[in-house]
Amino acid sequence: MPFASRLDNVETSAIRELFKLLGKPGIISFAGGFPDSAMFDVEGLREASQKALSEEPGGALQYGATEGYEPLRAQLAAFERSKGVADIEPQQLIVTTGSQQALDLIGKTMVGPGDKVIVEGPTFLATIQCFRLYGADIQSAPIDAQGVQVDRLEQMIVEHRPKFVYLIPTFGNPSGALLSLERRRRILELAVKHQVLVVEDDPYGDLYFGEAPPPSMLALSSEVPGSREWIAHCGSMSKVLSPGLRVGWLVAQPELLAKATMCKQFSDAHTSTFAQATAAQYLKSGRMPATLANVRRKYAERSHAMAQALRRELGDAIEFTEPQGGLFFWARLTGAGGKVRDAGEFASRAIEQGVAFVPGAPFFAKDADPATLRLSFATADVEKIREGVARLGRAL
Ligand code: PMP
Repeated sequence: MPFASRLDNVETSAIRELFKLLGKPGIISFAGGFPDSAMFDVEGLREASQKALSEEPGGALQYGATEGYEPLRAQLAAFERSKGVADIEPQQLIVTTGSQQALDLIGKTMVGPGDKVIVEGPTFLATIQCFRLYGADIQSAPIDAQGVQVDRLEQMIVEHRPKFVYLIPTFGNPSGALLSLERRRRILELAVKHQVLVVEDDPYGDLYFGEAPPPSMLALSSEVPGSREWIAHCGSMSKVLSPGLRVGWLVAQPELLAKATMCKQFSDAHTSTFAQATAAQYLKSGRMPATLANVRRKYAERSHAMAQALRRELGDAIEFTEPQGGLFFWARLTGAGGKVRDAGEFASRAIEQGVAFVPGAPFFAKDADPATLRLSFATADVEKIREGVARLGRAL
């Protein structure tokens, strides 16, 4: 078929191929990026969806505004205010079909063939693919446990004059890294100084295990004069409530929001009104704080179990920083004691032992590190985590 040439820039992900192996009986999977469906607040969502139908069936089932269902926009603005975004009004955000659509709309509105975009190395694979589909020339800024390295980022901004910088500042996927408060401030200052858009993708910010992380860059933008217009913030209900709802949102300055809305109109007209009305009822019900407390506690338990097991079973053959939130461990094989250093080879051996994870290389837009890997602790319980990591030890 004479497909569009833009498809030449992307290929199906290496990770999808790996997922085919996960059907093998008895496999313990640390590979997926899903939240645990056993943690969904089914009762709360059932009540919310029933209320959506009984209280305003027209609104929940009819076509709706592209910008989003008004009661949900109001609830989301209140949700952001509860997280420190002082001055946000409903019209400053649009509802999107998952935050993935917000990223796609940013790609569509901002990127043309050959345009530069800076991302973190490593970063969320679907974003790399999405921006490449629009022809982006993606540059990769190095990170450490404190998130992206700001001096290097500034050099790259000056060198490449990117259309925007895409960051996952809070518990990144796959890095698990947490961008420090000081670096957040400096990046907002850089955005103003170099007049460059910073896209903050924040699906994991609510999933912290101990102390709350620093405020989102959107929240902090009110402290850095002039920075608000240079921040686009993508939020999501997926990791705390339900990814199947497909409810996300985009906060951005008016011009970008208007262009994104126009593109969304041609794409899906609007996000499912039924899903939006359900999410609005859920937020209104007041159940969210308890839901958040529950998922934080359970994921924290799993994360600690994984950290302990990794130290015990893999010792100095692996290095990692224990995450303070999110769903992922990002680790590096050291090769200590002559053990395997290539994460692809390790993944094949692990599958033979009945445990799966994702090698880290595909998460790099450039200069992949073949010794890295991502382990998700989200969907296995503590016992399975211990058994799975013991299998990793055997595979090593
Ligand atoms: N951004 C990141 C960093 C993610 O990990 C994900 C989901 N894996 C998304 C965006 C998309 O999430 P959703 O579309 O479900 O909101």
